[in-house]
Amino acid sequence: MNVKSQKNLEDVCAGQRTSTAIGTVEHPSWCDRARCTATPATTTGGAHRSTPANLTADALGGRLSVTGSLVQAHARWLTAPYVSVEFVGLEHDWMPAHGAVELTAEGAAALGRFLSELADTAEVDHAAQVAAYLSTLREGVRS
Ligand SMILES: [Zn+2]
Repeated sequence: MNVKSQKNLEDVCAGQRTSTAIGTVEHPSWCDRARCTATPATTTGGAHRSTPANLTADALGGRLSVTGSLVQAHARWLTAPYVSVEFVGLEHDWMPAHGAVELTAEGAAALGRFLSELADTAEVDHAAQVAAYLSTLREGVRS
């Protein structure tokens, strides 16, 4: 390679380093780099992704498996993260089904509070029912 070609190659490489530095990706704290598709060259389409978390809950007639993760589109502009949730163990008309949904962070928090409030109501009421039932049994033993 002659001197001029070497100089041109170095100039091109220096330019690439500069553009790469401009396109540096800042990952959210929750981003799992092994799952992240955001790259400096990606202005749209790539996304930051968290490690999925799983929850298995007992359901009537089976078990519900819920997998949740965070996703945030990588773009030159500010984007909002959302919560990706996948459900396995659902049924519809007695047939197995599964589903997935993407919720805003606010929507996911509202869903969590909604379920928590229903569960609290059910647990408090059931505890009162059990106490009343046990009281009735004790009365029966005494008489
Ligand atoms: Zn990332």
